Amino acid sequence: MIALRDALCEIASMIKDTAADDSEPDWIACHVLGCGRAALRLRRDIDDDVFAAMKAVATERATGRPLSQIIGYTGFCGLKIRVNGDVLCPRPETELLAEQAIIFLKDRKGARALDLCTGSGCIATVIAVNTRAEVVASDISRKALEVAEENARQNGAKVKFVLSDMFGDVDGKFDIIVSNPPYIPTSEIEGLDREVRDFEPRAALDGGEDGLDFYRTIAAHAADKLKENGALMLECGEGQAAEIARLLDGFDCTTVVDYCGVERIVKAVKKSV
Ligand code: GLN
Repeated sequence: MIALRDALCEIASMIKDTAADDSEPDWIACHVLGCGRAALRLRRDIDDDVFAAMKAVATERATGRPLSQIIGYTGFCGLKIRVNGDVLCPRPETELLAEQAIIFLKDRKGARALDLCTGSGCIATVIAVNTRAEVVASDISRKALEVAEENARQNGAKVKFVLSDMFGDVDGKFDIIVSNPPYIPTSEIEGLDREVRDFEPRAALDGGEDGLDFYRTIAAHAADKLKENGALMLECGEGQAAEIARLLDGFDCTTVVDYCGVERIVKAVKKSV
C-alpha cells in the first residue's frame, strides 16, 4: 500500500521530461484504477499492484510515446476515441471544427456530410452522434479506417467509411464537407515535438512543401462535390487561413479562431450564381 499522493509524485518525476502538462500523473492513475478524476481525489492509498501498473505506463511515457497511444484512447467532444500509432490523436482545436459542422447541420433535413482524411474517425463519429445527417468518411489509410470503424461502432454512430485518396472513390454530393487534412510543411516536420514527430503517422502530418497540398485538391473538387448552399469547413495551421481562402475561388470564406486566438477553421460557402 502507498499513499496516492506519494505515488503521483513519483510518477510525475518519472515523466517530467516528456509530460505535456501536470495533469498526466492523474490521468495515468485514473486509467489504471478505471475511475474519473473527481473520484481519484477521494482516494488516500493505492495497492502495490496498482502502483506497479502506473509505473509501467510512466516508463513508456518517458520514451516520449503519447499518453493517448499508451492507454489507447483520448476524449473528443465528450466521446471516448480509440487511438494508436496508425492515426493522428484528436486535438482540442478539432473539437471546434466538429462543433461548427454540427451547428451547420442541426436544422437540415436529409443532409449528407463528408469527412475527408478521417483518421481516427473522430469528426465523423461526433457528427453522426449529434445530428441526423448521413455521414460518409474517407481516408487513404486502411489501418486508419479500421480504427475509425471501431470508434464509430463503440460510440453507436452510423458512418459509411470509404477507402479513398481524397475524393477519388467518394460518390455523390454533400451539404457539408469537413476536413482536418495533414497541413505541416514538410521542412517543419523534423522540428516538431518528439511525441508528434516520432510517434504519430507522418502521412497524417505532412502537407507537402508549403503544407497546402491537400487544400489544393479540396479546392479543385469542392464545388463539384457540394450541393447548392453547401459548405466546406477546413481546419488549418497557424498562418494558413488567408492562403486557403485565396485557393477557394467561387466561395465566400470566413474564419473561426481557436482557444489561442489562431485562425483555425476556414468556413467556405459556395457563392450563389
Ligand atoms: N481527421 C482526423 C482528425 O481530425 C485526422 C487528421 C489527420 O490525420 N490529419 O483528428
